[in-house]
Order: sequence, then structure tokens, then C-alpha cells
Amino acid sequence: MTLDDPLQSLNGIGPRRAADLERIGLRSVGDLLSRFPLRYEDRSAFRDIASVNDGDVATLCGTVVSCGLRVTRRPGFKLFTAVVRDGTGTIRVSWLNQPYMTDVIHRGGVVVLFGPVTRRDPGGLQLTNPQYELVDEEDADTIHTGRIVPVYEKAGSVTARIQRRIVHDALGQLPADLPDLMPAWVTEKMRSDLVSGGADGREMRSDLISRGDQEHEIRSDLISSLPDWRVALVESHFPPAGTDLAALNGFRTAAQLRLIFDEFLAFQLGLLLRRQAADAERKTAAVVVNDRIREAVRARLPFALTDGQRSALKQIVADMTRPHAMHRMLQGDVGSGKTIVALLAAVVAIENGLQVAMMAPTEILAEQHYLTVKRLLESSPYRLALLTGSTTGADRRRALGEIASGMAQLVVGTHALVQQKVRFSRLGLVVIDEQHRFGVMQRAVLREKGWRPDVLVMTATPIPRTLALTTYGDLDVSVIRDLPPGRSPIRTAAKPQSRRDDTYAFVTKELERGRQAYIVYPLIEESSKVDLRAATEAADSLAADVFPAYRVALLHGRLKPEEKDSIMREFAAGRIHVLVSTTVIEVGIDVPNASVMVVEHAERFGLAQLHQLRGRVGRGGHQSFCVLLYQTPLSAQGRERLKALVDSADGFVIAEKDLALRGPGDFFGTRQSGAPTLRSGDLVRDHTVMERARTAAGEVLSRSDEATPLIDEVRRTWGTRFGLASVG
Ligand code: ADP
Ligand code: MG
Repeated sequence: MTLDDPLQSLNGIGPRRAADLERIGLRSVGDLLSRFPLRYEDRSAFRDIASVNDGDVATLCGTVVSCGLRVTRRPGFKLFTAVVRDGTGTIRVSWLNQPYMTDVIHRGGVVVLFGPVTRRDPGGLQLTNPQYELVDEEDADTIHTGRIVPVYEKAGSVTARIQRRIVHDALGQLPADLPDLMPAWVTEKMRSDLVSGGADGREMRSDLISRGDQEHEIRSDLISSLPDWRVALVESHFPPAGTDLAALNGFRTAAQLRLIFDEFLAFQLGLLLRRQAADAERKTAAVVVNDRIREAVRARLPFALTDGQRSALKQIVADMTRPHAMHRMLQGDVGSGKTIVALLAAVVAIENGLQVAMMAPTEILAEQHYLTVKRLLESSPYRLALLTGSTTGADRRRALGEIASGMAQLVVGTHALVQQKVRFSRLGLVVIDEQHRFGVMQRAVLREKGWRPDVLVMTATPIPRTLALTTYGDLDVSVIRDLPPGRSPIRTAAKPQSRRDDTYAFVTKELERGRQAYIVYPLIEESSKVDLRAATEAADSLAADVFPAYRVALLHGRLKPEEKDSIMREFAAGRIHVLVSTTVIEVGIDVPNASVMVVEHAERFGLAQLHQLRGRVGRGGHQSFCVLLYQTPLSAQGRERLKALVDSADGFVIAEKDLALRGPGDFFGTRQSGAPTLRSGDLVRDHTVMERARTAAGEVLSRSDEATPLIDEVRRTWGTRFGLASVG
């Protein structure tokens, strides 16, 4: 057997189970073996039922004495309960709203249970909603009990128990001489780096600890050496007796760290290879910068740049003068002034006879960029064009013609810009605003069309350091950390919905002082089940009853583009005072006179999204306010998220928090956004390892002849393994 063999080659896996496993990304035996269990249970010694106490989390094993489904007093709730006995006593077990348990648990069955022990009213202890597993008497073969066992996440029809069996069989069939592609010097270097940490290692560790993650601390006594590949696979699934259970469940044993490191190293190698391939391509044309061009840039400056803006511009222009294409991300918090930096870079390109494309994720934003750019370039000789999905008919034909002939020097638009029909004459620079919405694939599309421009992506969602090494690991990064002068911090408060009237009274005061306000709702249509105040109804009642003296308008995703445009224009001109909206205003809208942002159902939004929304105010000289109205009761996580926002105005801090709370999967939303598929490592838990892997990958490439098999393997499998566009 080899690790490339399909899963169906294993006993017990037919088409149905193979399909269920494929759905979670497991195709080959290697995939299966590199996927870690969710957790480990020590079943070498079960707790005696008689010995458990209120508050314990315990693993028990016993025989089901009785069981059945009960209807509770609260309508709609179903309780399945069982009484389980071992040699020392009995305990009640209950599962809420899992009526299918009647098909699973039967009287006389032997069951392993893992879960919290609570005191029941009145009297007695109970195990509540425990993980469970049926054990056959004849299973005394040390796979499922009598040892530390892995517990896997269920995949469709493939239960934890079936997976344990399959993994065990597969491990048993591994060739004794399974090749270890990792050169020993790499593994050893990695090990000693992880142990010694170094300056930033210490810093990272303390920052982990401050987040209460001690269980993921790397203990040097546990990794005095890292095992070879084969041993690492075996011991990550079936740890030898005596392995530290806390270390296992923190994914910090030597075997686990070896697999995590392997995965991360392969990932980083692929990123570096992809980057090398991109660097090898020569771009459309490199720019030159001379006094005339410097003067042209200076002529367009509406204000003095902040230090952050100036150094970002310098890095960007330096890239533009090089023969290979720029791949740079410009990160800056909301309101840090990224647009002007991009525009000045555009001036450099245009003065070099190149065309520039600026792309925004929505039509409203593209339109706004266009107006901003037009205003800033008013006295310049440059020819602009706007091209969005709603540019039609003769306008569209003219725009397309001017773009193709090279007459249009700066083209602003949505992703329609890279669509089939659009041809550029000399595209030199592409600026992509709010990149994570576009997806990293855009660059591939450009390349397919034979365009090799410089690419600058801008994002106001700061990328946590952990993810910066992954999702955007092959981009160079410029960061604007400062804000333009004269901004006072936005005052933020979280309030229950019962305080809505006070909030509106406050909004009215601001309107009386000539300011404007946003009121944001998470949805546009009344949902039948949830008591959600739909934006439509709200807008009507706000206009009629709450702000009768002011103009209130509703903006939502289903309006026609012209309608959206005209509302935005009216709001920007101050003729609409209160803009009720769904999240279409989230990114980029710039109306300096608006001073209040009220977010309804703030508990439903992601942290980064709330930070974006808040960034819509505080853009002029006025003291600005953000009120987050939430529905009670608020979950613990919801409370923590809102608190993070109230406590911090720094998008970078908020992004780290968001990532820690939601996990990397949700941070960017879709897989298309470029988060890799990982089976062993976890971007948050293992970020120290990722940083080490990054350094190690650089060294491996610089000594590539000592690691040829490893590099070849990465080239062969990278794209499918991590679910990303391949190395190229
Ligand atoms: P973002 O980084 O969120 O895209 P913008 O580019 O929209 O920010 O800029 C936010 C606001 O700050 C705009 O109104 C812009 O004109 C203004 N601005 C940008 N840079 C400066 C600066 N150096 N001095 C003063 N105002 C600035
Ligand atoms: Mg912007």
C-alpha cells in the first residue's frame, strides 16, 4: 500500500463511505492518516461511576440498564435518557433533542460515554449530552478501549468508531520502509527552533498565554527529538501507553508536532515556489521615475501624506520600477487613506504611458472611487473611464473602445473589468480594493488573458499575522498604521435593544447639529421565524414617527444600481439625513459629515464587519459615535465580540480577536478566499509552528539540492492537497 492509494482500497470502505469521506476532503490513504482526531480519550482506565463528581468531565464505560424517550413539559423538547451501570454504581445520562438516540442505544448495550457530569434537580448526578460510542464485547482487541483512543469527527455515515478501525487498519498496512521525505537536518532545526523559541518565540508564547491558551504551549521536555514520518503517523493516532493526555489534546506531542510541521512546511514551500514562478515572469513594462514624474505626482497631492502613506507609496513605486510584476498588499485600517496612495501610484504608471485599472467589489464603490478619482484628477490631462455591470449600450461601447485603444488611461470599475470582452492596450497596474471579497483568483484571470501588470490589492480588514503567512503568504505587504491628522476616536457603546429609544433621541440631537446618521440592519426581509425588525418596515416607521423632520432613505442590495447611486449621491450631498441600510454600505463609503452609526442586531455581524461599519463615521472633523444595539440574551461569545469592539479602535487588534473567536475557516468566509485546507495543523493554535515553517521553507529552497524529493512532492501535490490554485 502507498499513501496515494484511494480510500476505497481499504477494507470497510465502499463507494458510500468513500463519498462521505471525500465530502470532507479525504481522498487518499495519506489524506486519512494526516487528518488528526478531534481529541483523545484515555480508555485504558475508565472512571468508576461511583467516583465522579459534579463538575467533572469524565469518560465512563457501562451497560445500559434502561433507556427511553421522554416528552418534557416544555412543548417541542424531547429528552432521551438512559441509566448506565458499571461495577461500582449507576448514573443517569440524558440527551436533549436527539430523538434518534432511540435507534442507537438499547438496553443491554455496552457504551462508552464522555461528557460533563452535572447535579440534577432533585438529587443525583447525570451525564449531559455526552459523546457516546457503542462497544461490542468482542472488541476487546485494544482498538476502541483499553488504551488512549483517538476520537474522530463523524463524516456522514462514517462514525468515529468506523474511522478508528479504518485508520488502525491503514496504519497496520504501512510499509515498514515508508520513505521520509524530510531531510533530517530540517526536522532537527525545526525541533531546536521550537524549543529555544528565540526572541519572537518568547513574545509569541506570552501572547498565547495571555489568551488563556496554556494548553498549547510547546514543552521542550516532550520534544527532545521528533520521530520519523512513519512513527509520527502511528503515534498521532494511537499514542503509546503513558503519553501525556493533556499534551495530546493540546496537539503538542512530538509525533503531532512532526506532522503539523510537515504540513506547514509543505504549504510554505508551495507558496514560495509559486512566488518564485511569478517573479520569473517579466511584466508589461517597468516604470521609470524622474523629476517630471515626481512633479506630476506632487501636483495631484490634495494634502500632506501621513508617514504611513508616504512609506507605502515608496515601496509600491519601488516595486513598479522592477522588471518583474508587483504582488503587493496594502493594508490599512478603515480611513487610513489608501485611495490616495493607489491614485498616486496610478499617476506614476500613467506618466509612463501605461494604463491603470482600479477595481472595487460593488458598483456603489466603483462609482464612488470614480467620483473621488475624478475630483482628484480634475485639473489633470488624464482620461478616465468607468466600466461596471450597468454601463450599457453606447456608453459601454465607447468605454471598451477607449480602453482597447489605450486612450482611457485610468479605468475604474467592478470585476466586469476583467471579463471576456474587455481588452487593454497597455495595462500596467491593477489596483484591487477590498481584495478578500474578490478572491485571490483574480490574478490568475489576469494572467490567463496574457496581462502581466503590477498588482496592488488593498484591504481594510487587517490580516492577522497568522493568516498573513498563509492566505496572502506570497504577497509583499505594506501597512499604513497611522490615520490622517485631526481624527478623534469614535465613541462606541453596546446597548440592549431596550435602549433603542434613547439611541434615537441621541441620533436626533446629532441631526439637529447638522450631522447625518446610518442605521444598519442585518437583513432586508422579515424572516418568518426570527423576531427581526426588517429594514424596510423600520425605514418607514423611522421616517414617519421617529425622525419626521428629516429625510430618511433605505438602501439595500436589491435596489437597481441607479436607485442605489442616486440614494448614495443624495446622502453624500447631505440631502438625505438618515440612511437606513443593509450591509451594502459596509466597505469604502466616504461621507465625512456622517457622525453616527447605529447597528441593529449587532450580535449577528462578524467583528471585522462591525469594525468596517463603524469606519463609515469619524471620517470628518466631527466627534463620531457608534451604537451597537443587540438582542438579549447575548451569548458569551457575542458579549466578548461586542466588548472587543467597544474596547479597541485598532483594526489589527480586532482582527486577531475575530480570528481567535471564529477560527480561520470563517474569518474570510469561503475557501475561495485562499485559506488552505489543513488536516493536522491549525492556523490559530499552531501559529508558532507556521512561523518556523516559513523560515525553514526559505532555507530548504536555498539548499534545494539537499531536499529534491520533498520539493518534487510539493510541486506534485500542493494544489490539490491545500485546495488552492497550484504552484505553477
Ligand atoms: P480608506 O483607507 O479607508 O480607503 P480613504 O482613502 O477613503 O480611506 O480615505 C479616508 C479619508 O481621509 C478620505 O476622505 C481622504 O480624502 C482623507 N485623507 C486621506 N489621506 C489623508 C491625509 N494624509 N490627510 C488628510 N486627509 C486624508
Ligand atoms: Mg477605501
